[in-house]
Amino acid sequence: MKGDLPVFAVTGKKDSGKTTMVTSIIEELTKNGYYTASVKHTRGEYGIDKEGTDTWKHGKAGAAIVVFSTPMETTISIKAKKSLNEILKILSQFDLDVVIVEGMKEEDIPGIDPSKADEIDMNEVVQNLCRRIDIYRIERELPGLDCGRCGYTNCDAMAEARYRGEEVECSVESNVVLEIQGERIPLSSFPAKMLKGGIEGMLRSLKGVESLDDVIIKLNQEER
Ligand code: SF4
Repeated sequence: MKGDLPVFAVTGKKDSGKTTMVTSIIEELTKNGYYTASVKHTRGEYGIDKEGTDTWKHGKAGAAIVVFSTPMETTISIKAKKSLNEILKILSQFDLDVVIVEGMKEEDIPGIDPSKADEIDMNEVVQNLCRRIDIYRIERELPGLDCGRCGYTNCDAMAEARYRGEEVECSVESNVVLEIQGERIPLSSFPAKMLKGGIEGMLRSLKGVESLDDVIIKLNQEER
């Protein structure tokens, strides 16, 4: 599996200081160059739109998704409840480093509770998060096959080793990707080179092929 996008939660009672803690974590991560998303969860049955605004009227009329676009920002409002997994799936379309969640106590997410602030070392919290993100950044560049050919049990362990500074090679990391029925097939360097050489040679002989950047070939065994 490709590394999961790091998610960190700040949960606790109402007015316990969750938002203050979330904003200070986001500020620190942003200062350190990480691309952060936040999720605010509330049990209240209301939306971000104020009654009577144009976008509120669009939603009220039945639009399933309302987009508010200004020169400063783009707000996409989905007029339906979404689970955390669904929200993370939507966010995965962006090249994010981490998602900070305020609320969602019932979800099994690593995090902190501001009511225990005396026991929390915020520097340590941010450092641990930065470490998780750095490992995730390494892991998302690996094939995510968890095949163990490199000697590590999975890509996560390999990413941790690279993070520690070990110079270790992924045995199937190559610029050739072979998928059969949606499953990525681990390719070590010899078959990867053979495939690449053969396909490149054939493609170069074709009229109209000027570049071999980002080539996708799909084979279908059905008779046409
Ligand atoms: S060889 Fe590559 S794909 Fe396989 S587990 Fe190691 S890092 Fe992951």
